[in-house]
Amino acid sequence: MKTITTDFDYLAATTVEEALDLLAQHKDDDYKIVAGGQSLNTAMKHRLIAPEYIIDIKGLTDLDYITFDEKEGLKVGALATHRSLEKSPIVREKYCVLCEMEENVASVETRNWGTVVGDLCNADPAVDPAPPLIALDAKLKIASKGEERIVDAEEFVVDYYDTTVQPGEMATEILIPALPPNTGVYFTKYSQMLGDYALASASVLITLDAKKDKCVNVRIGFGGVGNTPIRAKKTEEVLKGKKITEALLAEAAEVAKTEINPVSGIEGSADYKRELAGTLLKRVGKVALERAQKA
Ligand SMILES: Cc1cc2nc3c(=O)[nH]c(=O)nc-3n(C[C@H](O)[C@H](O)[C@H](O)COP(=O)(O)OP(=O)(O)OC[C@H]3O[C@@H](n4cnc5c(N)ncnc54)[C@H](O)[C@@H]3O)c2cc1C
Repeated sequence: MKTITTDFDYLAATTVEEALDLLAQHKDDDYKIVAGGQSLNTAMKHRLIAPEYIIDIKGLTDLDYITFDEKEGLKVGALATHRSLEKSPIVREKYCVLCEMEENVASVETRNWGTVVGDLCNADPAVDPAPPLIALDAKLKIASKGEERIVDAEEFVVDYYDTTVQPGEMATEILIPALPPNTGVYFTKYSQMLGDYALASASVLITLDAKKDKCVNVRIGFGGVGNTPIRAKKTEEVLKGKKITEALLAEAAEVAKTEINPVSGIEGSADYKRELAGTLLKRVGKVALERAQKA
């Protein structure tokens, strides 16, 4: 039997520079970053992981921000909590889909302490923020000592509980472009209990032409129906350039079912989740369309 000890060295950073120095120094060690600890502490408590070093970034107040301007869009720092996104007046005004999404993430207690970036880095395939961020064409900024790179939201998670963040790196910011006119976005998840992870979730962004007739851009994100959150590009092609109707959304839902890859579990079979995702797409697409027409 493998014995897992719970001893670790605790290293707390107070600035981004300090955190990047610690990450560079421990690049080849068995370490974990901790932000709010809502997922990490649970994994450690259950002895699923036992890192030798914990690098605490909760003190990086310089990364605790949410800013918006029309040119650069929305920027969410790595230490911004779910609750601050949910309660941000500018987010509610410009990207209300993110506030709606946040209202059903876990409990208020978890949202008060857990960060949005930490949720993405934990990389559960059903993570709630991922589908709307994919729909919104968000990017993540990843930093290491002396370097920075930008990754599309749909490329960020690479497998179950694994992201593109490499040893020595940390995610520092989410960037979301300003929305063009005539754009509507919506997200919903289906879970067995309020605040639970989703069995399936979907988010759709639709931009209509000046006459509000045809769809000029559409982006679709799914959660919980594969080993990562998924951008459904083939499904988008069904809708792009066309007048969106309920019949067209039903056609798109059929394509979506072939583009996702759910697995069976105690909470539902793969076929059930496939059907669920198709149904969510039709519902979410309808609301996104109505919002685009009113925008
Ligand atoms: C009871 C419960 C219910 C939940 N329900 C939901 C739900 O319905 N929907 C949902 O989406 N989520 C849910 N969650 C997950 C929750 O949202 C996350 O636990 C929380 O947001 C993680 O943020 P954190 O700051 O606490 O991250 P931590 O727990 O500190 O870290 C999580 C992981 O991300 C890594 N990490 C953290 N920050 C960074 C960074 N800046 N750069 C690189 N790596 C980093 C850590 O090393 C760790 O691997 C639930 C959690 C709990 C405990």
